[in-house]
Amino acid sequence: MFLETICIKKTWPEAFEMSLEETIREKIIRVLMESRRPLTAREIAEAVGLDPYRGEAEVYEHLRHIAKTLRRRYGGRAVLYMIPPRCKDCGYVFKDLREPRKPSRCPRCKSQRIEPPKFYIET
Ligand SMILES: [Zn+2]
Repeated sequence: MFLETICIKKTWPEAFEMSLEETIREKIIRVLMESRRPLTAREIAEAVGLDPYRGEAEVYEHLRHIAKTLRRRYGGRAVLYMIPPRCKDCGYVFKDLREPRKPSRCPRCKSQRIEPPKFYIET
C-alpha cells in the first residue's frame, strides 16, 4: 500500500504532463492538416491556445516530434513541410536548416529582420 502510494505520487505528474503534450501535438497536426495555407509557429501557437509569443519556442519543439510522428503513423502519406526562413533585407534563404526554428540573424548581411519559417502538412 505504502509503495503503491509512492509510485503514484512519482508517476502521476509525469504521466499527466505527457498526455497533455500529446494533446497539443494532436491539435497542431489537426490545425496544419486543416489549414489551407502554410502557418508560422506563432500562428500555430495561437490556433492551439498557447500564448503566441511565449508559445512559439514550444511549437518548434513540438514540430520536431510531429515530423517523426507523421512518418511513423502515415509512412510518407502525410509529410510535414517547412518553407525555410528568409532574410527580409537581402533575401537570403536558410535552405540548410536541419530543424524547425527561426534563426536570429542573417549570415550574409547580419540583419535581424528574418521572416520566420512556415509549415504545412501535405497528404
Ligand atoms: Zn540578409
